[in-house]
Amino acid sequence: MLTRAPKGTKDVLPSQSGKWQYIEQIIRDICARFGYTEIRTPVFEHTELFLRSVGDTSDIVQKEMYTFLDKGERSITLKPEGTAGVVRSFVENSLYATAQPTKMYYLSTPVFRYERPQAGRLREHHQFGIEAFGAAGPSIDAEIITVALSLFKELGIKDLMLNINSIGCKQCRPTYNKALRDFLAQKADGLCKNCKERMATNPLRVLDCKEEACAGIVKDAPKMLDYLCGECAEHFNGLKKRLESAGIAYQVNPFIVRGLDYYTKTVFEIISTGIGAQGTVCGGGRYDGLVEEIGGPPAPGIGFGLGMERLLLVLESQGICLPEPKVCDVYVCTLGDAAALQGFCITTQLRNAGVKAECDHMDRSLKAQLKYANKLGAPRVVIIGDDEIRRGIAVVRDMENSQEKSVPFAELNEFIKAGLI
Ligand SMILES: [Zn+2]
Ligand SMILES: [Zn+2]
Repeated sequence: MLTRAPKGTKDVLPSQSGKWQYIEQIIRDICARFGYTEIRTPVFEHTELFLRSVGDTSDIVQKEMYTFLDKGERSITLKPEGTAGVVRSFVENSLYATAQPTKMYYLSTPVFRYERPQAGRLREHHQFGIEAFGAAGPSIDAEIITVALSLFKELGIKDLMLNINSIGCKQCRPTYNKALRDFLAQKADGLCKNCKERMATNPLRVLDCKEEACAGIVKDAPKMLDYLCGECAEHFNGLKKRLESAGIAYQVNPFIVRGLDYYTKTVFEIISTGIGAQGTVCGGGRYDGLVEEIGGPPAPGIGFGLGMERLLLVLESQGICLPEPKVCDVYVCTLGDAAALQGFCITTQLRNAGVKAECDHMDRSLKAQLKYANKLGAPRVVIIGDDEIRRGIAVVRDMENSQEKSVPFAELNEFIKAGLI
């Protein structure tokens, strides 16, 4: 047990973290271009926040939350998704009182769900997401979809399809829910056990049930899009027009509903259609009532989240290799104690000058140091022995062509930095 990570968790090893950092850098660049700034919220929140926001009919709240009493008898839950904490912070810190919209992102945030690990699901995974508050019109909907698509494009991911839908608002959804319930009631015998329950509590969820029998039945169910009120219909048209004006391909998919109770109007998923990694890589939607629901002033909001691990899987399945970070620009090889001391000093100076420099910590022979330098992929090595110390010069060897050059210690930094040999 001591040397086993808990079920459903996974280390990001040093050999993998370069990929994460590469993706994170692209995300930060894109967010900066689109005007989103980072927010970091706690890993845990009061349980009530998720009951009120995610909704107590959702699978997350019913089955998947990591909830416990702390020593002060407070019910605490590890974040099961990224949005609720951001909404709580938006209200608590009166961000609504600043010039709107408020546009924020969170990156590689750990998210916890008690899932079945045998299904390949992680109990701790990491999400990138963005949230925009204060803007009610469809322009911001189109913008956040563009953020996600820009990321996938810059990573070189192909075979993606944007699916959009509208699930209406407080005004129009009750009428639709009734029509949907009436329809489902006639076919209840054919629905799976979960859907029989959902039918009463959250009939929309039946629409995206993965069971074949349910999918067969809901094919002919009434569609929310036919029940939208004037405002919701206009909003959805506005989104479509903006996507078209930006040349973004989409398909309207009436079966996209998202799992969480707080969504209103626009919902969307970006779905990978490539072989080997089918499924949703990014999902989000509008949550106009959520800020008010948890005690803030009325303020519209919209956002999306995507799993970093899932994103890495898609990259892998599409054979996309991210550039490997260079670990070492120069390796300082030394022979003898005096040289080791001088080598440490030179290595430190090189590092202070911005060079990725390494030296021996293992008392290796010169030959073994050169071998190790090769393993690190160092394009150059500096070699210092007693003779070099006497003369105040080092030998710099190009590992590609084995050419060597003598360089005075005082000029090493500039020489290495200039990449000369
Ligand atoms: Zn409506
Ligand atoms: Zn079902």
